[in-house]
Amino acid sequence: MTTPVTKDVSVALTFDFDAMSLWIGTFGMNSPSALSRGEFCAVGARRILSVLENARVPATFYIPGHTAYAFPKTCRAVVEAGHEVGHHGWVHENPVSVTPEREREIMALGLQALNDVMGIRPTGYRSPAWDNGPKTLELLLANGFEYESSMMGNDFEPYWCRIGDGWSADGKWVWGKPVDMVEIPVAWHLDDFPLFEYVPLKNTVNQAVATPREVLQMWKDEFDYLYDRIGTGLFAPTMHPQVIGRGHRMLLLEEFIDYAQSKPGVKFTTMTDYARRWRAGKTPSLPADAEA
Ligand SMILES: [Zn+2]
Repeated sequence: MTTPVTKDVSVALTFDFDAMSLWIGTFGMNSPSALSRGEFCAVGARRILSVLENARVPATFYIPGHTAYAFPKTCRAVVEAGHEVGHHGWVHENPVSVTPEREREIMALGLQALNDVMGIRPTGYRSPAWDNGPKTLELLLANGFEYESSMMGNDFEPYWCRIGDGWSADGKWVWGKPVDMVEIPVAWHLDDFPLFEYVPLKNTVNQAVATPREVLQMWKDEFDYLYDRIGTGLFAPTMHPQVIGRGHRMLLLEEFIDYAQSKPGVKFTTMTDYARRWRAGKTPSLPADAEA
């Protein structure tokens, strides 16, 4: 008789409900055709809500203020279904590309929109384009956020954000001060957008042509490594309703949920719930082998 192995693996499905804001704010595109790709986001979001309801799993949606005003009914349906909504900028601006003053305005505009449309105050933040500016963390702390999810310093385990890391071309790395903000890491290979979407940009083309079968296998392998080799942690892919919401990719999402649910002990969670669970009893600290 073998002793059952206890697994403590969670899955947080995350959806960046960017809609038109991605094409306006990040890609700087203004043609009706480009914007219509964002409009499809609402079609995809409704399909996703249906899949989540059937599977009885919670999820987390990051919604720019611009999207909240454009698709208020769909956004309210997200909240009414019990899913978490996080801050995701105003019109999907990259915080690195704006001044700290503008970043403060964007923070306020986003908060206002989420409150106006859904009556919520978010506890989580995901930077548009996964790029934090030099003042982003101070802004998040000042606005009462509990976690953010835009960085890649770990994979299956959260860690504490830091302020004041220092570096130069000819100097040593300096560890900053850990602060009371949980980082739930992301990864480009767990993001549907660069894997699937064709985007003609100014000087190049994002010629992403992965098939759902390939991506499903990659995500299953990544999940298996967490489940089989590590046994404790969080699997948190990033999806976009305008990407995953296409028919053949919805099958990927459905299959992945089925696969994760078939593994004993796997729990589905929102990002805030996981961040709270992880931080309980801990105080902000540096990575294990760092010396302040
Ligand atoms: Zn986004």
